[in-house]
Amino acid sequence: MIAGRDLVKKFEAFPALDGVSFEFEDGEIFGIIGHNGAGKTTLLKIIAGLIAPTSGSLRVNEIDVVNDPTALKAMLGYLPEESRLYETMTAENYLAFFGEIYGLSPQEITVRSRQLFAALSLEPNGKKLGEFSKGMKRKAAIARSLIHDPKFLVYDEATSGLDPMTSRFIADYLRTLRKEGKTIVLSAHNLYQVEAICDKVMILKRGKVVAFGSMKELREQFGSLTYTIFFSIGNPDRLVGHTKTYRQEEGLYVCDAESMEELNESTSLIAEVGGRVEKIESKYPSLEEMLLRIGK
Ligand code: ATP
Repeated sequence: MIAGRDLVKKFEAFPALDGVSFEFEDGEIFGIIGHNGAGKTTLLKIIAGLIAPTSGSLRVNEIDVVNDPTALKAMLGYLPEESRLYETMTAENYLAFFGEIYGLSPQEITVRSRQLFAALSLEPNGKKLGEFSKGMKRKAAIARSLIHDPKFLVYDEATSGLDPMTSRFIADYLRTLRKEGKTIVLSAHNLYQVEAICDKVMILKRGKVVAFGSMKELREQFGSLTYTIFFSIGNPDRLVGHTKTYRQEEGLYVCDAESMEELNESTSLIAEVGGRVEKIESKYPSLEEMLLRIGK
């Protein structure tokens, strides 16, 4: 369990985090999202014990991270937003180097490295990290974060800037890690991926939590279904001057409605101007729409 209470982080007088509280249960994936500068990286660094909050408390299991950040090291794997790799090292040596730091024996390092390379579909073959592609570098950094088999993982933008296949591969791998019982806290701008893999999502805005919960809970908080109405009309000129905005798709006219009332109002208007509703699609707001709604 990771539990934060009233976390505040000020840089000079600027509050990057402004009273953030949460509880993350074991064995789940938590996504932290928000616009640029919302405070995601700051929160992840605090959770990883890398920077201290100005005030507030943070417990990871029984560890008081604020007062004893080093106690967390053995059970935590951190992936920074941009991991500077040791470009002249081979991936094998890179993992061995970090394995030693975590007190693993040479045998343990060999076994664990092999497992991780296989799981991540990484074939290092003695290549230097500097020669790796961006995707391979990210996988090497992920392998490093896992070398000591930590229970908690804090990943800052694990898949940003990667091609769709590698990004998908890593997302699937995070699901595998969850199955193995790991607790993962991640930040991401790829909201589609957050929706797909996270059990709970926290939305930060200017250092404050504006929403936190499962996708279902967030949907309830952000309002229910929205509707798209597809209609045909014999004389489209009759739409001129209408208050609703229309577009054309698939040879039909289309308009959106944010609620059931608006839906009823729109279908009546369409009927009034001689149109015919062909189909109505409904959908829940996506994370992207939620973020757009909360604004910067
Ligand atoms: P992004 O999506 O762009 O990575 P973020 O949500 O991760 O953004 P943070 O990096 O946590 O945001 O930054 C939050 C705010 O705190 C920003 O306004 C940033 O400029 C400020 N900030 C972060 N680190 C420092 C620092 N070391 N010194 C001064 N200000 C900082």
